[in-house]
Amino acid sequence: MTQHLNHFIAGKSVEGSGARIELIDPVTEQVYASSARGTAADVERAVAAAHAQLEGGAWSQLDGAQRGRLLTKLADLVERDSEQLADMDANAIGRSPMEPRRMDLPNAIANLRAAAGWANQLEGRTIPTGGYFGSKTLSYTVREPVGVVGAIVPWNSPLMITVWKLAALLAAGCTVVIKPSEETPQSALHLAALAQEAGFPDGVINVVTGYGAEVGKALCEHPQVAKISFTGSPEAGREIQRTAGVLFKQVALELGGKSPQIVFDDASFEDAVRGCALGLFANQGQVCAAGSRILVQRNLAERFGAALAEAAQAVQVGDPREDGVQMGPVAKKTQFERVNRYIQLGIDQGATLAAGGVSTPERGWFVRPTIFTNARNDMAIAQEEIFGPVGTLIVFDTEAEAIALANDSAYGLAATVWTGNLVRAHRVAAAIKAGAVGINCWSPLDANLPWGGVKTSGIGREGGFSGALAYTEEKVITVLLPS
Ligand code: NAD
Repeated sequence: MTQHLNHFIAGKSVEGSGARIELIDPVTEQVYASSARGTAADVERAVAAAHAQLEGGAWSQLDGAQRGRLLTKLADLVERDSEQLADMDANAIGRSPMEPRRMDLPNAIANLRAAAGWANQLEGRTIPTGGYFGSKTLSYTVREPVGVVGAIVPWNSPLMITVWKLAALLAAGCTVVIKPSEETPQSALHLAALAQEAGFPDGVINVVTGYGAEVGKALCEHPQVAKISFTGSPEAGREIQRTAGVLFKQVALELGGKSPQIVFDDASFEDAVRGCALGLFANQGQVCAAGSRILVQRNLAERFGAALAEAAQAVQVGDPREDGVQMGPVAKKTQFERVNRYIQLGIDQGATLAAGGVSTPERGWFVRPTIFTNARNDMAIAQEEIFGPVGTLIVFDTEAEAIALANDSAYGLAATVWTGNLVRAHRVAAAIKAGAVGINCWSPLDANLPWGGVKTSGIGREGGFSGALAYTEEKVITVLLPS
């Protein structure tokens, strides 16, 4: 029996047009569920429900403290169901369930709890001015919710990324239509049901499942959607700018990356190898912040390349539901083909294959953890996002060269600096063009920290207080004071 998933609109499970999308298990390549294939009509119903809650609905009557209490209840319920939610996300993409249990779910719960606090802290300012034609004035600002948000989410960390958007926008008083990835709709649907159990009014949180070109596009074009918050590929982000941007909607884009990990010869060797391996192989390398470009100082390069190749060979690949397996397949067939294509390109362009290689499994979209050494920064494997467990090592001589190589990328999401010299660490961190830099740690995520990129990695920040502010408009009010 396959699972039958519907939309969640105005507090109800909604079948939609009847067209379905099959969900395929990446380990067995068997269909395990189907979801509703949403249409513009489904989006219309969901946006209407979300809009009604802002226009005099019960949600619009709540103050920040009351919204905060609901967020706290939702956090408790997500915590109650955290293993179930982690397993849903893991099974959908063939990931080891231990990863979302240890990383995504605690982070999502912390985000909900942090946002519960932000909800009551979205204060305005009192601003001194020069007055108005000789009379004194009082000017102040208030933070108002942006409106209905279209939240468009990818498949790699579905629940966590949905919560990054949801927690912040609810704190700000917005309502939402979530469009999960067509591959991973379950956890968003479960989250919406939990929000209903927590007591959020019907229509505040809606989920319309389906394809980007149908549901996503309809959200971007809908006149009552005020903001699109998108996480995904630069290609889709560009398309969203073209549709939502020209309609003057706010558009926040969390896009891809080709993040450098710079390893200086004074770094702790073991820590750097462990950190680089984590940055390459967590979630099969299907992480936006994957540290996929390893820049290594020349006198360390050979030993470091050999150690990373050994780490790649030691990864246990197989059915992630089995004990001891560390890495499952990549999430889908197109992803499998993409990763293998890049591995072949690396070989063709002359990089040295130190571990892994092109994979041809009998069943399941398994790819081998792969390490290239002796690569150049202008190769495709160094410039383009592969989104798989593939690391590319490039040698540098000087600090200035390392910084130049790190910044010689269309992307600017994250970076790591591995060094024992903290003065150098801060100098290099300041010089790197990226949204986040880790010093001796790969991609530290925390509910209190903003997250986002520069250049092709996107526009805007999620997370932390900045994330909640991003779902508000600052309105200024000026009153003429009688003299
Ligand atoms: P994708 O762009 O194919 O899809 C993402 C979402 O957008 C899906 O829900 C999809 O249906 C929808 N979509 C696609 N085309 C659309 C369109 N024209 N209009 C509206 N919606 C559309 O990306 P993906 O393959 O799901 O995810 C992988 C990408 O996401 C990688 O590039 C990765 O780096 C990026 N990512 C970024 C972050 C971050 O925080 N910066 C986090 C995770 C993933």
